[in-house]
Amino acid sequence: MKNSDTFHGKSPEKTSGDYENRRTFLKKACAAAFTIAAADLIFPEDPESGSRQSNNEVLPWYRRITRWGQTNITETDPATYDINWWRSYWKRTNIGGIIVNAGGIVAYYPSKIPLHRRAEYLGGRDLFGELCRSAHEDGLAVFARMDSNRAHEEFYKAHPDWFAVDTSGKPYKAGDLFITCVNSPYYNEHIPSVIKEIIELYHPEGFTDNSWSGLGRDSICYCDNCRKRFREKHGMEIPSRADWDDQVYRQWIRWNYKRRLEIWDLNNRISKSSGGKDCIWAGMNSSSVSGQSRSFRDFKEICARAEIIMLDSQARSDAEGFQQNGISGKMIHSLLGWEKLIPESMAMYQAGRPTFRLSSKPVNEAKMWMTEGIAGGIQPWWHHVGAYHEDRRMYKTAAPVMAWHKTNEEYLIDRHPVSNVGVVWSQQNTDFYGRDATEQLVELPLRGITQALIRSRIPFLPVHADHIERDAKKFSLLIFPNLGVMTDDQVASVKRYVAGGGNLMATGESSLYDEWGDLKSDYALANLFGAHITGKVPALWEDKNASRIQETLHTYLRILPEIRRRIDGPHNSSEPPVSGERHSVFKGFEETDILPFGGTLNPLKTDKGTEIMMTFIPAFPIYPPETSWMRIPKTSIPGLILNRLSQGSRVAFLPADIDRQFGLYNLPDHGNLLANIIRWTSKDDFPLSVDGPGLIDCHIYRQEKRLVLHFVNLTNAATWRQPVDELIPVGPLNISVRIPQGIAGKEINLLVSGKKLKAIINEGWSRFEIDTVSDHEVAVIL
Ligand SMILES: [Zn+2]
Repeated sequence: MKNSDTFHGKSPEKTSGDYENRRTFLKKACAAAFTIAAADLIFPEDPESGSRQSNNEVLPWYRRITRWGQTNITETDPATYDINWWRSYWKRTNIGGIIVNAGGIVAYYPSKIPLHRRAEYLGGRDLFGELCRSAHEDGLAVFARMDSNRAHEEFYKAHPDWFAVDTSGKPYKAGDLFITCVNSPYYNEHIPSVIKEIIELYHPEGFTDNSWSGLGRDSICYCDNCRKRFREKHGMEIPSRADWDDQVYRQWIRWNYKRRLEIWDLNNRISKSSGGKDCIWAGMNSSSVSGQSRSFRDFKEICARAEIIMLDSQARSDAEGFQQNGISGKMIHSLLGWEKLIPESMAMYQAGRPTFRLSSKPVNEAKMWMTEGIAGGIQPWWHHVGAYHEDRRMYKTAAPVMAWHKTNEEYLIDRHPVSNVGVVWSQQNTDFYGRDATEQLVELPLRGITQALIRSRIPFLPVHADHIERDAKKFSLLIFPNLGVMTDDQVASVKRYVAGGGNLMATGESSLYDEWGDLKSDYALANLFGAHITGKVPALWEDKNASRIQETLHTYLRILPEIRRRIDGPHNSSEPPVSGERHSVFKGFEETDILPFGGTLNPLKTDKGTEIMMTFIPAFPIYPPETSWMRIPKTSIPGLILNRLSQGSRVAFLPADIDRQFGLYNLPDHGNLLANIIRWTSKDDFPLSVDGPGLIDCHIYRQEKRLVLHFVNLTNAATWRQPVDELIPVGPLNISVRIPQGIAGKEINLLVSGKKLKAIINEGWSRFEIDTVSDHEVAVIL
């Protein structure tokens, strides 16, 4: 080991005597630290730490710590774990807390609880205890990490009734491990006893748990505990198979969600009663709503209970891009509140596509993920798997991001988003409309809409359908991306929002299903859409061939009114010339009368006063080219309907699932059409305008006396295919921001380049230019 910076635990100069002396010292030194941490769980103000400073109040640790670190311990680490090296890394990366493996499947401390088996190579070492004491000594908080849904065979043999079983009574397994049942004493007794033991021995500040929600939706447990509880609650037997049309299965889904919330509450009661009011149990959650659904984690209800969301979302997918991390931050904050924190585990190793636990993630890929998270209000948390690495490049990635975060922290938290466009979602829609096709029915339409907004630089916020009433006054436009399932309360709140002057855009089958996912005879929002179902529409998920969502059809949409006098091309003598003005929703499409579509449409009845802007052209052959001509060039089947209501509200209804198509294929025509419709519906009234090249994700926040704008440059050779190696700067960007009351808007401080600019103020707008953006820029407007 030549490089002292990367030395790990195998020190030739370290003797076992030194090691023992240090342990004795730590034991003594930490007794005092415990007293402080456990008494009131508040840390001394330490300018060197990752703790958030507050002038007016002393915040509990989970509101103060804004940078985290996690070395996920592997079973062989106890033999070589070099705590001193990691302590220097904690300091170098400016973190205020660590997440440390404690117990669950295996214990990283000498547990006395029966069957709580020690990690295979723990030996006599109390690794969790040493790390916990070291962290406390350094002024860091400790999240004890649990992993509580599996156990070894000896545990299964001792308590077979604590484990999840299939219809034949055979236990569910993951590799060699047996999966525990959430309705068994494993969760009611064993895990609480582990939490209590860890608190008594070590006083960690709180607990996380990766797999706290147990068996996922894809498997049904038929153990005696489950059968008994379900019978008691619903008077029925556990459903024999997954069937979304079966009311028993639907009740089983809801019953499972409730049980996970009970576990959340139970673990918090245990940790708080043993460790003090701020000794919270925070579980772990995914930023993917369909992932949360498959794990029975009700994000809205969890956020209503949580003091902090510990987010496990370590890398992007090619389809979603870095921008997904910004969207996740805003979506979770809108449930949790903007005053609370959302640290996110960020892989320093090559995670995702593909995964190499021990190789460094390309540095720009890792940094861009962190940067987008920060732009969306997420706090950085580095994550390494294993405490010893031969690829030492990964230790260089986090420090610069963390240093920048620390310097600029006051601008990155305690802020509220400024946006008048809300994109509506709900987990109930993911479950009961999306069912087993959430990507096609829920995620792609949502992605299409959000990507159209991002590429148009229109700031937006995700809004839960249950919060429309609460948040209505923030928004001048609400967008429903194929939100099939809507409850009666949600529908009523949308109607009130529109009656109050709000504008609305909806796509696909929005509001066509009840809360259980049963098809209605008409859209619940039909009167606002100005469009009605004329016959039975086959539900997208009922379509056994799934052609409406699985296949891309050779279909088109015809733009109305047609323009024929201005054509620069051969004239079709069979049709008379038509003249007319193009509507603003067709801006940029002056030279085409058709747009590619890909989906299919059924007839609709439209109300008087609505405008049909596009009609459907049914599929015709692609191959061979001789056959590739429109069989039916014109129908009256609407693809886009605009409705102006008497109170001044605008409603755009797009039965054509252009949002799904854009989410899937990224065709610019689809993105531009969506953006045009959004602009028309919202009367082109946005607080921000950005001119310049590139794909830039823009976020805008308000603090008391200033605005904070993030510009994340997503323009690079790997925008849609990871990983990013080279960053490509773009610029100049010409920015116009509407200045709210109480902010002068003249002084601009750029937090990345360090430049100070003067803005031009004109009719309530502040205008300035950023000459270049490499990975990102943050502009503070005073
Ligand atoms: Zn069970």
